[in-house]
Amino acid sequence: MTVDIVTIFPAMIEQPLAAGILGRAIERGTLDVKVHDLRDFTTDRHRVVDDVPYGGGPGMVLKPDPIFRALDAIAAERGTPLTVIMMSPQGRRFTQTDAERLSGLAHIVMLCGRYEGFDERVRERVTEELSIGDYVLTGGELPALVVLDAVARFVPGVVGDQQSVAQDTFSRGLLNHPQYTRPVEIEVRGVHGVLEVLRVPEVLTSGNHAEIRRWRKREALSRTLARRPDLLDAASLDEEEVQLLRELKGASHERD
Ligand code: SAH
Repeated sequence: MTVDIVTIFPAMIEQPLAAGILGRAIERGTLDVKVHDLRDFTTDRHRVVDDVPYGGGPGMVLKPDPIFRALDAIAAERGTPLTVIMMSPQGRRFTQTDAERLSGLAHIVMLCGRYEGFDERVRERVTEELSIGDYVLTGGELPALVVLDAVARFVPGVVGDQQSVAQDTFSRGLLNHPQYTRPVEIEVRGVHGVLEVLRVPEVLTSGNHAEIRRWRKREALSRTLARRPDLLDAASLDEEEVQLLRELKGASHERD
């Protein structure tokens, strides 16, 4: 997969991408990320990328012409039509479903805003506008990294074990079940300063795979029910899960 990112702070994108799973994917060539400095597409001596808003008001607006030139250059290199994603708090909320969908594309472009955002006319070349949540950041670089990271996990060969991606939280509309690793017992001081022994749930060390599977389903469901009941409406549940959910709901009713 090829990704072109347009920003006025290339280092904010390049440095995080040097480490971890994405860094390795880029090194191996599974992922090809090219960062474009918007200032390279200005034509004035001072390489100005922003200007005051027409009509007055606070802050600066990203000038449209450097962005159009950057997109022209990318189109000349990669071909058209381009999938151009504008990072914007006014966009549709980015979800795991979007991540999976975008991972199926061979090439995407991401535009990172700054200041008060983009000149409205840039939207003429934008195919989708994505927000990473209902809060406002100082720039689109962190959102672009968030989107890229989530998308890249679905690109075959990026994450070592593709099965782990399919089982992740949200992928089936449920939160993940709890995970444990060695040691089986650990002595820790809890929040109240009291020493306690914390053990891994016995079922996980039982070797009974059918029981483990059922326990995990039950935990995933009860967690989702407690923390994100909104997810359950759209979740794709098998028969066993539907039954488990009915039991869990019944139990919580009895407690009420
Ligand atoms: N004045 C604008 C906000 C500008 S924030 C408004 O009210 O809509 C500056 C830039 O940061 C935006 O252009 C966008 O690229 C990025 N940004 C900020 N918050 C974001 C979010 N929640 N999701 C995606 N991008 C965001």
